[in-house]
Amino acid sequence: MLKGKIAVVTGGAQGIGLEICRKLLENNVKVALCDINIELGRNTVDQLRTKYSKDDCCFFPVDVSDKIQFKDCLNKIIDLYKSIDILINNAGVADDSIEFWEREVDINCKGTVWGCILGLQLINKGGTIINISSTLALKPYPLMPIYGMTKAAVTNLTICLGSKEYFEKYGINVMAILPGLTDTPILQHTEQRYIFPEMASYRDELKPYLGKMQSPSFVAECTIHALQTGKNGSLWIVEDMKPPGIIELDYKIKTK
Ligand code: NAD
Repeated sequence: MLKGKIAVVTGGAQGIGLEICRKLLENNVKVALCDINIELGRNTVDQLRTKYSKDDCCFFPVDVSDKIQFKDCLNKIIDLYKSIDILINNAGVADDSIEFWEREVDINCKGTVWGCILGLQLINKGGTIINISSTLALKPYPLMPIYGMTKAAVTNLTICLGSKEYFEKYGINVMAILPGLTDTPILQHTEQRYIFPEMASYRDELKPYLGKMQSPSFVAECTIHALQTGKNGSLWIVEDMKPPGIIELDYKIKTK
């Protein structure tokens, strides 16, 4: 079902994005790996090309929070591969520090919104957009409230754009993966990334909210499962290395 498709993965140079690229390649999907980190992105693609052909995987630099760059990047990918079937809006940061939080909102929210707008306009009918949210969209982690807020925004965006009305107009499936704690470089130095650094004294007490650590390759496996079986608008919780669970939502409006 995935064979021969063209996928774009933002933030694909490392972590969850890189593992999603690997799993897509294993499923015979051609991958455009996009990242703001140009050196790492190029090295990662060079490494993937030791196993896959030059045509199977290419690097495209992008800052997803910049709509001009993001649009140019997707157009360059279409020039090369002729079309796009899958867009994984994965690029994200976790830094609530007083110096960085506004940039975090730009990357996590604005970047995903642009990814969805451009994806609905540019990818093939019948294609899929997957937004990488977080379980912290649904539960509190008081040390990083802005990160959780951005992921709650991404989740609601997904529910709206994954509605039947959008599907009728654009013919694109929109889903979200909500990973729990995952072993990637994003977790380094988090204690310097709290909006109120003095709250760090609650770190141990609040640790249970984060759940157990899982591997990025497990999250990637579940993302492929969602791509193959997921319905439009579905939200997939991927936590504690357990089989992915779907959140079922019922939004019927009840009138008298
Ligand atoms: P990571 O830091 O390992 O990888 C993120 C990648 O995104 C990096 O390669 C980085 O260069 C890239 N990136 C950052 N800003 C960018 C921008 N403006 N434009 C393009 N690329 C950019 O992090 P990760 O853990 O792999 O995170 C991937 C996604 O998963 C993020 O959206 C993150 O919020 C989400 N997530 C992570 C965890 C976790 O515990 N690791 C849990 C839930 C959700």
